Amino acid sequence: MNAQNFAVIANQISTAIQSPFEIQATKSLAGGDINRAFLLQGVSQNYFVKLNCVELVEMFAAEFAGLNELAQTKTVKIPRPIIYGQTDDVSFLVLEFIELKRATPKSERLLGQQLAQLHQQKQPYFGWKIDNTIGSTPQSNKRCENWITFWREQRLAAQLKLAAQKGYGGQLQILGEKLCGRLDDFFTNYQPQASLLHGDLWGGNTAVNTENQPVIFDPACYYGDRETDLALTELFGGFGQDFYSAYNEVWRLDSGYKTRKTLYNLYHILNHVNLFGGGYASQAEQMMRQLLAN
Ligand code: ADP
Repeated sequence: MNAQNFAVIANQISTAIQSPFEIQATKSLAGGDINRAFLLQGVSQNYFVKLNCVELVEMFAAEFAGLNELAQTKTVKIPRPIIYGQTDDVSFLVLEFIELKRATPKSERLLGQQLAQLHQQKQPYFGWKIDNTIGSTPQSNKRCENWITFWREQRLAAQLKLAAQKGYGGQLQILGEKLCGRLDDFFTNYQPQASLLHGDLWGGNTAVNTENQPVIFDPACYYGDRETDLALTELFGGFGQDFYSAYNEVWRLDSGYKTRKTLYNLYHILNHVNLFGGGYASQAEQMMRQLLAN
């Protein structure tokens, strides 16, 4: 990353905040899956910047819009988005810098309550005003009145199609097609609502600030069944019992969630097949067998 790029970014920050911002020091930060991240230190303010190749500027545009969508609910704290754009060499997204720490049982309780309040923000259809990405995979959010159709076409079938293009045929596709034909069975007594979702709520995308307030970041927002966010919190662990109890106290989950969570996490495992390959294909097949046996 050359000094010229940082100078362009500092200039854009100055324009966005309508006050001069000059970088005193930069520090490379670890932790991101997809992008390179830096702390930009100024005289009195610090910013967090993510960088990627120029072609991926739309990914940052969607993340910028997602953070704004979450922020306007005033439920869970998110890093304030400042500006996104591109230089000749890189695309960038600048956010408020927040010193992040690990969650505590108390902050987990608060996150459970606040997430339920976030999910109470609804709209009359599934999808969102723009498409975005899950990891670096394109995620379609085309408006749809029917959740089952949305989940079938824009989530499962989209990942299965991508997997086929990457050479994952055989059982993965056979089971996938069978499951897509039987989705109605999972929704016999349940009508999901179109809740505002974080969309990528695994443990690595939440932390707390120095005042122990929960913070969520790196979203893949859309409006859909709130159970999808809860399911992902369970997939890779990291959320304690306090989180789930507090969530349920505000807005109780339906008993069918226990079965549907596999259906919802299947989307993320299929995405892992497409991003990382390896053993994820057999994990996806196993999940589909389990769902079909239900
Ligand atoms: P990626 O899109 O590459 O996955 P993330 O948005 O997850 O990147 O950010 C990478 C890491 O940087 C996070 O795990 C977190 O520790 C840290 N981070 C994210 N946002 C901020 C922020 N606004 N201020 C300070 N640190 C942040």
